[in-house]
Amino acid sequence: MHFTYESLPQKVVFRTGGSRTALHGELDALGVGRVAVVHTPQESSLADDLTAPLRNLIACHIDDVKPHVPADVADIALRKARDADIDAILTIGGGSTTGMGKILARELNLPLVAVPTTYAGSEATPVWGMTTDGVKRTGRDVRCLPRTVLYDADLLATLPRELTVASAFNALAHSVEAFWAPGANPVTTAIATESVAALTDGLRRTTEGELDSDTHARLLYGAYLAGNAFAVAGSGLHHKLCHALGGAFDLPHAETHTVVLPYVLEFTAPGLGDDADRLARALGHTDPVEGLRSLVAATGAPTSLAPYGFTVGHIDRVVELMADFLPLPHPVPVDNDAITSILTSAAHQE
Ligand code: NAD
Repeated sequence: MHFTYESLPQKVVFRTGGSRTALHGELDALGVGRVAVVHTPQESSLADDLTAPLRNLIACHIDDVKPHVPADVADIALRKARDADIDAILTIGGGSTTGMGKILARELNLPLVAVPTTYAGSEATPVWGMTTDGVKRTGRDVRCLPRTVLYDADLLATLPRELTVASAFNALAHSVEAFWAPGANPVTTAIATESVAALTDGLRRTTEGELDSDTHARLLYGAYLAGNAFAVAGSGLHHKLCHALGGAFDLPHAETHTVVLPYVLEFTAPGLGDDADRLARALGHTDPVEGLRSLVAATGAPTSLAPYGFTVGHIDRVVELMADFLPLPHPVPVDNDAITSILTSAAHQE
């Protein structure tokens, strides 16, 4: 075996309940004294509740959070954080909130603590993203990697079922693509395999009555592992396609991943070799493509981008955007026809 695996410096605290006390302990351990709390207006009461024991540490709240971190919104947040003379950033929310925290951490070179409330997995990666004039740029910077992540399955109890499913498929996209992404290695494949199994189990449980905290814990564990594998294996065909789609047509993030993943897997599976069996087993099936399709059907997840406004007329623009990434290292050669065929499937009317 010849491979290089660079693990990332991060403390992960995983629990169900009791996150108020745990959060206090973690901020104490970092020795910080003036914290900016980042959250959306929808998550403000959750943020108030979680930070109630920390009132003397809170220097400011930043609650203007938008998907894909628009640069002008980030500029205002940066000014507010500088004026408040903070020494740490705390994010409480989904991937958009974590994304804003990452920009602050990078620009101000301050420690970031993340409390995720979706399965987006951004907290496990050093990847930042920011959007200027409709174009999203991304990059890697270890200053963006949260020092501490506090996962509490109880915080996801308020996620509506549809968003739970779409967000969990967004996580599954991280771990499935980690099987073939450019930096994949035996360690990331082992982590991705465990992630796919946990997410498959959690997603199956979402179809059985009320979503309980065990289901959220199973999904959250799978989502952390997914982000962890993706952080090292990197982005491949699936993420590059979804990035182009999201940036150009303002499509919803988790749902776009949910729809596109089965079509990318169908295209890629013939080149996966032994990993095809491994992935299939983790999906609880003998065939990876059928396994993923049956999970989508069981959970009622979306299979088309048409309801979000994407049509075959938009495909040429995505092919144009993807030209920057070709040739792309992938188990099956990727060309314009392959991209067109994947997107034609994704654009079909249900
Ligand atoms: P999001 O953060 O925009 O949240 C979606 C919606 O869910 C929001 O309305 C939010 O208020 C609500 N919400 C969040 N938690 C909730 C809860 N517990 N209960 C009820 N409602 C809740 O969306 P997301 O899918 O979490 O994140 C998407 C963003 O994350 C995208 O911008 C994407 O690019 C980024 N992302 C980045 C990385 C990375 O490595 N940098 C990885 C994954 C995703």
